[in-house]
Amino acid sequence: MESESAELAIRDRSRGALTGLAVGDALGAAVEFHARGTFPPVEGYRGGGPHGLAPGEWTDDTSLALALADSLATVGWDLDDQAARYLKWLRMGVYSVNGHCFDVGIATNAALSRFERCRNARKSGDPEERASGNGSIMRLAPVAIRYADSYPDRVEDLARLGAESSLPTHASASCLSACRYLAVVLAGLIRGEDRDAALSPDWPALARIDAAEPLHPLIRDVAVGSFRRKTRDEVRGSGWVVESLEAALWAFHDAATFEEAVLRAVNLGDDADTTGAVCGQLAGAFWGESAIPPSLLRGLARADMIDAALVGLLGDDRDGAGPTGGGDGFVIETN
Ligand code: MG
Ligand code: MG
Repeated sequence: MESESAELAIRDRSRGALTGLAVGDALGAAVEFHARGTFPPVEGYRGGGPHGLAPGEWTDDTSLALALADSLATVGWDLDDQAARYLKWLRMGVYSVNGHCFDVGIATNAALSRFERCRNARKSGDPEERASGNGSIMRLAPVAIRYADSYPDRVEDLARLGAESSLPTHASASCLSACRYLAVVLAGLIRGEDRDAALSPDWPALARIDAAEPLHPLIRDVAVGSFRRKTRDEVRGSGWVVESLEAALWAFHDAATFEEAVLRAVNLGDDADTTGAVCGQLAGAFWGESAIPPSLLRGLARADMIDAALVGLLGDDRDGAGPTGGGDGFVIETN
């Protein structure tokens, strides 16, 4: 049983993982698809971008994370339910900041259209490596938040949930591996693991998930520290899962603050909202929601939607209740 202060710190870091995702997404939204160096450096929320959003509005990264969070809180672990909620966002704008689906990745659109026909989320994601976008790591935080207590004793189970959460839209080996790794890193940080330890090539949890099922070689390269060796000119915040994960870790691993990390990430340009969302999950899980600058919290659009998702995942701290429903996630099919 954790002490009360340790419980509060875990709650703050859990909230930080999802709020950080949304903040990073919103900071990057105005410069998504812009090449680095072609825009004035992002220092706070700004409007515009490819979707013509208002300052502080967030995109598909956060919408899909909210859908995933809602599914976990409502029914527990059910991939078809996760995909059905993504489809509600795609077709009806549920979970959107403005009630409309205004952006969708190519792989996600194709996979959800397949799900609409086959209704089998285990078969809807494209397993080809060429379909290895960053659309499943960008929404991952709710899995780590909900099942953080599987760190450190059951990291293999958590890694499996991470991989499964990718299947509905991104079923390639590198996407599955990226989600296995990122889920465990996020849970470790939420549970108070030191940043350098969790990002070390010698991290015991990394060895355990790699032993349980070898990581894709390109994801293992990132996990053992490619991001430490590269300069800013050498990382790319692209839509490819390998580069996206590497860029987010590059921005996070030696930043001094949450704000520094996410601004570094989004100022790489390109798929800026998603690099920001992945980095924001890491930075929020490490520093906690309380370390996100008040201006970024106040300016975040529809913060009530983020908060409702967190209450679903964590329970309402005002009444000390646990999560609102759902299963425990560890009754998992083995294939
Ligand atoms: Mg987006
Ligand atoms: Mg994006």
